[in-house]
This record gives sequence, structure tokens and C-alpha cells, in this order.
Amino acid sequence: MNAINSLTELNQEFDKLMSDMDCCQECNFPDCMGFIWLLDEEIDQIYETGAEILNINNEANFIAPQNYQANLYKKYPKCSLYQNDRDCQIYDQRPFVCHSYPLGLECEDDKLYWVIHTDCLFIQNKIVENTFSHFIQTTKNLIERIQPTLMSNIASTFRKMFFLTTSTEKNNYQIVKEVKTDVQV
Ligand code: SF4
Ligand code: SF4
Repeated sequence: MNAINSLTELNQEFDKLMSDMDCCQECNFPDCMGFIWLLDEEIDQIYETGAEILNINNEANFIAPQNYQANLYKKYPKCSLYQNDRDCQIYDQRPFVCHSYPLGLECEDDKLYWVIHTDCLFIQNKIVENTFSHFIQTTKNLIERIQPTLMSNIASTFRKMFFLTTSTEKNNYQIVKEVKTDVQV
């Protein structure tokens, strides 16, 4: 298995994994919400698009939510780059967290996991079509190819974001695989 060494490669792999996603226009799930966190290496590129970036405590960076009011405990602020009809103003330059969705990271019982968000219609369709198990296995294979330094970078950024914005509400997700890194969660 060839390793995935860079964020660009990883985003391309996620795009391939989700290449048959054609149901977004029919989907009623309100995505493009929540705190859209950025890896350090993404900040300049996102800033250059004209997007407003929110920095919290010099620790974590986000695309500013719409009508930002500094309420970190509101779970689902809408992304400021969202346009009507599920259009993204910076689609080709969207950040890692948007390329990876409906995959994502979650902390549970002091452990970090790759998860699949099961409210996403793309995933619901896979469950109905009995292709979800295959999708999970393909996802696991992809995740195992992520080079450890890249994974640590993603995990440490997620950790900072998680502890700044965490909420008592839970997302609906299925765990795919525990993230094994030296990052404490
Ligand atoms: S939740 Fe899934 S299917 Fe719905 S718009 Fe988002 S990515 Fe598309
Ligand atoms: S950057 Fe684009 S794809 Fe990502 S949450 Fe915002 S509107 Fe959605």
C-alpha cells in the first residue's frame, strides 16, 4: 500500500472515495455547519480566498461562521462560505475537514477515532443499498495509508479544536478505526 504523505494527496484520496456522491441536492441534513477547523498549512490558502478566519486563543483556527457572535457553545453555526442550494464559495479550495466529510474525527472515552457520520444521505443510501460494509473497509484501507506525521498533525489540530468547541450534544456516527498517534486526547 502506498503511503499518503501530504494533505493534498489525502484530500485527493477523499475526493476519490466520495466520487459517487451525487445525492447532496436531495439531502435534508443541514451540513456545512459547526466549527470548520483548519490545519495550520491551510490558513494562508483559505485566507487568500477572502474568507474570514476565526482564531481562538492563538490555538485553533476556523472558517468564521455566518453572523459570528463568538458563541463557541452553539453547536451548529452555519459556515460563512455556504451559499444557497448547497454551494460552497470556495469549493475547489475547501479545507481538509470538508474534503473528508462524511468522515471525520471524534473523541470518545479519551480515545480518538475516525468515524463516519451516519446522518449524511450518501451514507444512508449506502446502508439501504448494502454497500456500507464495503465503504467502511475501503475507508479503513485509506486511513491506514496516512503517513504517521501527517496523521499526528491532523490529530493534534483536531484535539485543540475539540476542547475549545465541544458540546454535550452528540453527533450520530459509526466508529471506523481508532487513531493511533502520540497525540494525547
Ligand atoms: S450530509 Fe452528505 S449527502 Fe447531505 S449534503 Fe452533506 S455530504 Fe451531501
Ligand atoms: S468551506 Fe464550503 S464545503 Fe466547507 S463547510 Fe464551508 S461551505 Fe461547506
